Amino acid sequence: MRIASSKWFSLPRLGKDTFSDLMKARVKYDTKFGFKITSETDVPSALSILSRALDQTVELESFCFICDEPLGEIDKPGLIICSECMGREDAYALYTIKFASLVENL
Ligand SMILES: [Zn+2]
Repeated sequence: MRIASSKWFSLPRLGKDTFSDLMKARVKYDTKFGFKITSETDVPSALSILSRALDQTVELESFCFICDEPLGEIDKPGLIICSECMGREDAYALYTIKFASLVENL
């Protein structure tokens, strides 16, 4: 399964140990919304804990930095812009604007 960074996701009932491992990996938990991978999360640990607990490969779904579309299968880790945005002439300008707005909101 794929989970999205910065979006709430739910999990089947987990054992206490798994839950506490996820907390140690700084996965955010809310009784109402479920779990969330945040910028504080130790992502590799969280993914391996989840893969083990759910007995399936759990991967992080990434979204385009510019248009927020899911990137789908990623063969290039670190790729953060979808091919459509990548092909746009103003991609770099959009990227800089978006980045600047994120930094302003910090
Ligand atoms: Zn895009």
